[in-house]
Amino acid sequence: MGKVMVQVLGTAQDAGVPQPNCYCMNCTKAIEDTLWKRRAASLAVVMPEDKQWHLIDASPDFKEQVVMLQRRFGLEGRVMDSIWLTHAHIGHYPGLMYLGKEAMSTSDVPVYAGRKMKHMLETNVPWRQLTDLGNIQVSEITDGNSVRLTGGVRITPFDVPHRNEFSETFGFRIEGPEKTVAYIPDIDSWDEWEVDVAEVCKDADICMLDATFFSAADLSDSGRSDRDVRDIPHPFITETVDRLKAIAGETEVYFTHFNHSNPVLDPASEARLFVEENGFRIAEEGMVLEI
Ligand SMILES: [Zn+2]
Ligand SMILES: [Zn+2]
Ligand SMILES: [Zn+2]
Repeated sequence: MGKVMVQVLGTAQDAGVPQPNCYCMNCTKAIEDTLWKRRAASLAVVMPEDKQWHLIDASPDFKEQVVMLQRRFGLEGRVMDSIWLTHAHIGHYPGLMYLGKEAMSTSDVPVYAGRKMKHMLETNVPWRQLTDLGNIQVSEITDGNSVRLTGGVRITPFDVPHRNEFSETFGFRIEGPEKTVAYIPDIDSWDEWEVDVAEVCKDADICMLDATFFSAADLSDSGRSDRDVRDIPHPFITETVDRLKAIAGETEVYFTHFNHSNPVLDPASEARLFVEENGFRIAEEGMVLEI
C-alpha cells in the first residue's frame, strides 16, 4: 500500500492574516512580509503514488492552496478527487467557486457536506450552478458515518457545536494506514460538546484544533473594541492547554485556525513560548505529515 500524507494548506481563521481592513500589529507585519501571511484553514489528504488527493474545506485562498499542494507532490494539472466541507462559514467553502464555469470547469467532483449544507449548495444561486452544470456532485455525510477512500484511508465526520446559521458543523477523523488525525478547525467550546475532546485526541495520533483566540485579551489588544469575543465563541488556547496538557506528550497536538489578533502568531511572543513549553505545536502552512 502506498504512502498517505496530510498537508496543511492554511492555518488562519476564515478572514486570513492579514484580515481585510485591519492594520493591527500582526496584520501590518503580514502585509509587509509574506512570511507572516497565513491563509484560511485547509488540509489536503494525498496519496502521491496513486496521484490522488482530497481537499478538506475549500477556502477563499483555494487558488494558492491548490498550487501549493500540486507543486509539492508533482500533481500539476490533477483535479482533486473529492472535497470535504466542515461548514458554511466564509473561510470554509467559497473556494468551490473556482470549480465552476468561469474557472476550472470541473466534472462531477464529489463534494461531501452535511444535509443543510448540501441543500444550501444545491438550491441557492450562485452555488446551485455548480450542481446544475455538473461541476460538482454533492453527497450527504452524517455524524459517525465513515467514507472509504483509496489507499486504505477512511474519513469519519463528527458533529461539533458551532454557530450553525446555514449548516451543521463537522470535525473529521482521518484514518490513514499508519496514523489517525482528528481535525477540528471550528468549535464554540469544549464544554458544550457532549464528547470529551481529550478522548478524541487520545484516540488519534495527531490532533489539529481550533485555536482562534489565545485568551479573552485577543480582541481588545488588537484595537477592535467593537468586537466582543463572547459573540464569536471559540475555546481559548489557554483553556485547551489546561484540558489537554496531560496527553500532549503522546498525541501530537497542533493549533490551527488562528485569528489575526492571536499573539501566538509572533514566534517571539510569551504566548508562543507558553504553547511550546506545554508540549503543543503551531500548525504551519505547507507542513506535511505521513499518516
Ligand atoms: Zn472558521
Ligand atoms: Zn489584524
Ligand atoms: Zn465557523
